[in-house]
Formats: sequence, structure tokens, C-alpha cells
Amino acid sequence: MSAPGWTPRPAYRELRAYDVDPTPCALELADNTSPFGAPPAALRAMAEAIGDRLARYPTTYSLPLRDAIAAYIGVAPDEIMVGAGSDEVMGCAFRALGEPGDQVAYMDPTFVMARVFAVSNSLTPLPVPLTPAFDADAEALVAAQARITYVCTPNNPTGLPVAPAALQHVLGNAPGLIFVDEAYAEFAGTNLAREAPTHGRSLVFRTFSKAFGLAGMRIGFAVGARPLIAELEKARGPYSVTALGERAALAAVTEDIAWMRNGVARIIDARERFIASLRAAGLAPFPSAANFVFLPVRDSRATMLALRDQGILVRNFTGLPGVGDALRISIADWPAMQRVLGALATTLSGEVRPLVAGERTDA
Ligand code: PMP
Repeated sequence: MSAPGWTPRPAYRELRAYDVDPTPCALELADNTSPFGAPPAALRAMAEAIGDRLARYPTTYSLPLRDAIAAYIGVAPDEIMVGAGSDEVMGCAFRALGEPGDQVAYMDPTFVMARVFAVSNSLTPLPVPLTPAFDADAEALVAAQARITYVCTPNNPTGLPVAPAALQHVLGNAPGLIFVDEAYAEFAGTNLAREAPTHGRSLVFRTFSKAFGLAGMRIGFAVGARPLIAELEKARGPYSVTALGERAALAAVTEDIAWMRNGVARIIDARERFIASLRAAGLAPFPSAANFVFLPVRDSRATMLALRDQGILVRNFTGLPGVGDALRISIADWPAMQRVLGALATTLSGEVRPLVAGERTDA
């Protein structure tokens, strides 16, 4: 056989496609989305939009949605760029603002797409291990002197918020650009996005996929100073946000805030009860400021498969630095979490694990 006449770009060769377990399960707790469905006003808006202008392109830069998000966050509309999920927005930021060869420092472990976007844009990934308490190592992130420093708070997969002092240290001292991924902000009760435009060198990424229950519509946004946002808009192109997604998010952020806050409160309540029950069973879950709980276990793959056999899908991590094996379990309402506790009790019977050295037990 002759050569196919092409080879992947070298930077792409080591990348793998995003790996999500496709097994349908009665209880899907592997992707940190909302267990409460889509918000009611968003559903109505989408129903009305069907048959309306779907044969035409959506608005070029989602201006009405941008205005509404600006009011929600507390910044000006042109300090916001809307995209097809925060994944797209992050991708645009790396593409627009990183020169091939530049270094990207990021917490390790963190959201996998930070590394993927760095590598796929020919940037050099620079993973910076967490501290022994699993916080961002602010000194080491700054010492990396990277062109882009990526911080995720609360961090995925640990669920821990970056300590405010560590975040301030990075924002104050890291050179170049600082990307703050605040996908779980509504659960943490933070709004770092509001400060991004005045900071000037930072972009904060937010999403409608988590607290707002619209992961399927793919809407995310970045907040930052006008010149940075203008560069991101160029990298996005005109029509990536669908007309339906735009309508849904616009309705959600104007009419469904109370619905969203109610869901967040229910998740936080179930999360705290779940963590307390795991601790009472002798396990060592991390405290969480997000809508998921990170649970170190001896063999995460075996535990994940055993739970899957019982109709519960969770995400497994193996060999994480400083942690070893762990599960990341999205939080649903309390009755669902009681089912998870029952399944874990059978699966992990006898697995009583001491706290990892230096593990945080504070929230
Ligand atoms: N950032 C973090 C930290 C996430 O966990 C996720 C979702 N897994 C995303 C960004 C991407 O979210 P979106 O659906 O908006 O692309």
C-alpha cells in the first residue's frame, strides 16, 4: 500500500478524541450537567423559535444574548464574547492569543481541554502540579513565566476552589494572559468574570451547560477587556451559535434565574449530604464547591464498571499526580445520591481509605 499522501500535523499526533463513555445508564453522573432538565422559559423560547427563522442564519454575534449576559454578570456587552459552549470560546482564546511555541502553564490535574487547546494550537503545554493540599500552586504558576496561565476554579476534577490568595497572586504576578475557567461559578457563588475587564489581561470563561441546564444547546461565553474580546470574535467566525441556542440562553438568563438558583441550592444540599455520608462510611471525598464530588478509591476503573452494571455512570480517573485513582461523581437530587451511596456501599465494601496526606477537609 502506498502512503496516503498526508500525515497529521505533528502537534495533533499525540491527541486523542474526547473520550466519553457512551453506555446509556439510568443515572448519568459523568458529565456534571443538570439533573433537572432544561429551564422552563428556555424550553418555551425554543418551541416558539422552531418554524420561525430557522432557514436563515442566526444573528452574527449574538447581540441580544450578549446584552442579557452583560446584565447578568455586571459588565458591558462588548466585554463579552458568546460561543458554542465555553469549549469553543476557550478554543478561540488559545487560537487568537497564543503564538505557536508559546508556553501555556496550567494546574495539573485540571480540565483536560486546557492541554488539548494548547497542543492543537502548537503551543507548549506546561503542567504545574497542585500543592499538597490540592490547590493551585500560585508560586509555581507564576514562576513558569508562561504566555498564557490557565486556572480553573472550582477545579475540575477535584471540585476544590482555588484559594482567593492563590488566585490573586496569579492575577497580580503572572506575566502575559491569565485564563480563568469559572464553568462552575454558580455553584461556588463566585463571579470572577465581573473583574476581568478591569484586570485587563485576564479572560474568564463561563457556560450555560452546568447550572443553567443547557449543555445540549452549546452556549458559553468569555468576559474580558474590550481589546481581548475583539480578538476572540475574529477567531470565532460569524455563525457558530445556533439560532435555537441563542433564544434558549437569552430566555434562561433573563427569565429563569430563580429556577437556576433553586436548582443550585438543591444540588448544594444533596452534595453536602452525600459528602457527609461518604465520610461516615470511612471514605475520603474531597470537599467540593461545584456540582460534583471527587472521591479517591483504590481501583477507579473497577469501581466505575461495577457502578455502571448497576445503572450508574460516573467518571473514572487513574494515576492522577498526588491522588492516584479517583471517581468524579456529578450531583443529582438527594434520592438519586442515596442510590449512589447504596451502590457504592456494595461496590466498595471493605474499602476504607485513610485521608491522602495533606488532604483538605475544609470547604
Ligand atoms: N470548563 C470546565 C472546567 C468544564 O468542566 C467544562 C465541561 N466539562 C467546560 C469548560 C466546557 O463546557 P461547555 O459545555 O460550555 O463547552
